[in-house]
Amino acid sequence: MLYDHKPFLLVVSAPSGCGKTTLLNQLFRKVKGLVVSVSHTTRKPRNNETDAVDYHFVDSVEFSRMQNDGQFLESATVHGNSYGTSSFSLKNLMDNGRDVVLDIDVQGMKEVKSASQFDLVTIFILPPSMEELESRLRNRQTDADAVIKKRLLNAAVEISNACFYDYIILNENIDLACERLKAIVYAERSRSTRTNLMGVFPD
Ligand code: 5GP
Repeated sequence: MLYDHKPFLLVVSAPSGCGKTTLLNQLFRKVKGLVVSVSHTTRKPRNNETDAVDYHFVDSVEFSRMQNDGQFLESATVHGNSYGTSSFSLKNLMDNGRDVVLDIDVQGMKEVKSASQFDLVTIFILPPSMEELESRLRNRQTDADAVIKKRLLNAAVEISNACFYDYIILNENIDLACERLKAIVYAERSRSTRTNLMGVFPD
């Protein structure tokens, strides 16, 4: 092989209900060499979620213990629940030479960026409109009305932070959005600054 690329962290944020999970699942099917970091959360699992696959579901005592021990690279309270990225798990994933996807919110992105020890690529997923976002949140029938209202308020705040990301993708059509996501991953892998040329030039 003539070249390889230095792995990076791909931070993907989106307001809840934007289709980010579907989009990322499609990306993982189409692009090799990506792995997702599984966060810890105090949120209760939804019906279709599995512990250690979707999240590490922990209670607030365990979450606080990990936080006090300094085990999180970043953590945030989102919609009233705690979420955090374990530094230890992330390091293990990065040591495997794959690009690691962090599905975290705006607060988390800012915290990871300020840690400045990582090579980051940040992407914000936008919904087509607030009306469409509300109808997607209601149609998925996983959250109570009060929760949906909280998520919509939070969405407006998150969208106002989209300008702090390297890329913005409008998710109006899942296939088109996935094509753009793929294009970003391939372009970022091809940056000369991330390229290891092996055996191309004499020593
Ligand atoms: P949900 O409860 O719908 O799975 O996720 C709610 C929000 O929490 C999403 O915006 C998701 O990106 C964010 N989130 C998930 N894991 C983490 C994490 O480890 N850190 C931070 N900061 N946000 C997270």
